[in-house]
Amino acid sequence: MTCELVFVGTELLLGDILNTNAQYLSKKLAEIGVNVLHQSVVGDNPERLRDVLETAFSRADLVLTTGGLGPTKDDLTKEVCAAFFEKKLVLHNESLRRMQAYFDEKGVEMPKTNEKQAWMPEDSVIFENRNGTAPGCAMERNGKRLVLLPGPPREMKAMYETGVLPYLQSMTHAVIFSKEIRTFGIGESSMAQCVGDLLDSENPTVAPYAKEGEAMLRVTAKAETKEAAERLLQPVIDEILSRLGGFVYGVDVPNLETAVVALLKEKHLTVATAESCTAGLVAKRLTDVPGASDVFGCGIVSYQNEIKEKLLGVDPATIDAQTAVCEDVAAQMARGVLRQSGADLAVAITGLAGPGKDERGRDPGLAYLALTDGKKTVTRTVHTGQTGPGCRDYNRTVFASHVLDMIRCYFA
Ligand code: AMP
Ligand code: MG
Repeated sequence: MTCELVFVGTELLLGDILNTNAQYLSKKLAEIGVNVLHQSVVGDNPERLRDVLETAFSRADLVLTTGGLGPTKDDLTKEVCAAFFEKKLVLHNESLRRMQAYFDEKGVEMPKTNEKQAWMPEDSVIFENRNGTAPGCAMERNGKRLVLLPGPPREMKAMYETGVLPYLQSMTHAVIFSKEIRTFGIGESSMAQCVGDLLDSENPTVAPYAKEGEAMLRVTAKAETKEAAERLLQPVIDEILSRLGGFVYGVDVPNLETAVVALLKEKHLTVATAESCTAGLVAKRLTDVPGASDVFGCGIVSYQNEIKEKLLGVDPATIDAQTAVCEDVAAQMARGVLRQSGADLAVAITGLAGPGKDERGRDPGLAYLALTDGKKTVTRTVHTGQTGPGCRDYNRTVFASHVLDMIRCYFA
């Protein structure tokens, strides 16, 4: 089944809002093996929307739209789409009743204009909106299907999960099941090289994906039952794990911090952090994981040199000789926070997030990391290679990931 996405809204074209619905829907559809071949953005204009539908259906069997289901005059997606599929709009009483209840619950009188939202294309499948007023729908004509979703992401996502996903799954008559293999420390191209031959396989498919220093593989199988799909997946996953070895931090784990907190819990160890350039990002990411208090009790943000000296006992002579961005300072910071916190392990980072060079002319994207358990201290130097405008966020994210990865590698 080939699919296209159409996002309706002049505000998207003006750059007033980011098209986050595009990322969400593409990701969700990829998860169930629906091939999205094109995405289009079009303003609130009936002729141009019609043109976009025409083009989309010349290439695809399924089109999903978001936006333009509101009560106002410029919201015309439903009207244009119904006309395109030659369907009349008919009053959907249940939607009208739900909408009325939505307003009653808020203690507000329903504006007359909202009634328009309950007029739905005839013979369509209606999707309830649990977070707003506009229902969505799916219509079919000559084997082509058109699904309309509201624009506000909160409404769209809930409707996708509860209505559209089951609808699409019932259409495909197959279970599509995927798992994500997450790695750190190997670039997307090296990973692709390592598993290159597997990327051509058809069932399961293997697709690479990279994000802020991390590389991931999604392995997707299609079968009659979930168990059968899992049986197809397992040998391919085993093969990938054996090829990528220690670069893999988890299968179906959402992120590095989750993997690290799980490892620390399993070993009954605690960790403390001392951060300069990431200013608490490592601590933040660790504590994003529910239950992190079992393994994390203390993080010190030591941004200025005096604080590194005063709170962590970093030797001023080291800073004088080598600046605060050096391996020795990272190691002293780690030992300092280990002492202060009484944790089992401590990690530390000092680096240049950018965008400017430092007083020695060193490029940003450089960081020194350390991990200590009180007996042994190991260090790591990171060069992200990102120096341009906007590098600051990227560098800090990648630096923090490396700190988390050092904890993971401690147990390897
Ligand atoms: P609409 O249903 O077209 O009136 O959209 C209502 C609101 O939903 C817009 O003002 C945006 O704030 C949001 N919205 C619409 N489309 C998108 C999109 N593609 N991505 C993110 N937000 C959107
Ligand atoms: Mg709109």
